[in-house]
Amino acid sequence: MSEQPYEYQRRELVEPDWTRFPGWRDVTAAQWQSAQWQRVNCVKNVKQLRAVLGDLVDESFYADLEADQERLATMSMLLPPQMLNTMVPHAVPDTASFYTDPVRRYMLPVATDRHLDWPSHPNASRDSLHEHDMWVAEGLTHRYPTKVLAELLSTCPQYCGHCTRMDLVGNSTPTVPKLKLIQKPVDRYAAHLDYLKTHPGVRDVVVSGGDVANVPWKQLEAYLMGLLSVPTVRDIRLATKALMGLSLCIRDRACTGSR
Ligand code: SF4
Repeated sequence: MSEQPYEYQRRELVEPDWTRFPGWRDVTAAQWQSAQWQRVNCVKNVKQLRAVLGDLVDESFYADLEADQERLATMSMLLPPQMLNTMVPHAVPDTASFYTDPVRRYMLPVATDRHLDWPSHPNASRDSLHEHDMWVAEGLTHRYPTKVLAELLSTCPQYCGHCTRMDLVGNSTPTVPKLKLIQKPVDRYAAHLDYLKTHPGVRDVVVSGGDVANVPWKQLEAYLMGLLSVPTVRDIRLATKALMGLSLCIRDRACTGSR
């Protein structure tokens, strides 16, 4: 059995110092806490990663990442600075520590992370939970009698290598041409509400994506008000990972709850 490459430790929950990365040496606290700055400075390709990390990691790491992006990746690259800042959080990263960091491994996979014969799980499928097969309207999965999943859009503030919605979420990669949502959002959301009004057995709606943090506020509000107007819907849950990846940016607008 191989050894655990990363030692898990309980740590104080503080924002790691982002100025340890050469590309963010001059970034001020005001910039860091700005939603706009975080969105604009997301890392989307190897060139942008190099601009942040510089020569902290060897060229071999960048080549490894490029190889994965060109041949094996199932998700496109999208890393908010706050997410990247959780990698090797309490030291200046070097090649070895960056390779073994657990967040790096799932948010920024490289070719050598993968099994030679099985770069993805042998039984993996693009839509491993068969959500698309169970759509009753575009983006609305009805799998369980009393519960539906509503996918409002196909984007997130960050893209994760393990995403079970890789079929739909993010930009296409060489290995996964993504499914496209065809309908206009307003029509898609209206179709969801029509379905719920005619299926009173559904009481629980998980509102997701992608990630609800990327839904324009007015559209999300209108959708939620529509759900609240369906008397048989009793539980509404908003699913987001942005509380972690863009926590400072959305703290005033994300919530999870029921009525
Ligand atoms: S849907 Fe969730 S797991 Fe998939 S990329 Fe978005 S945040 Fe990551």
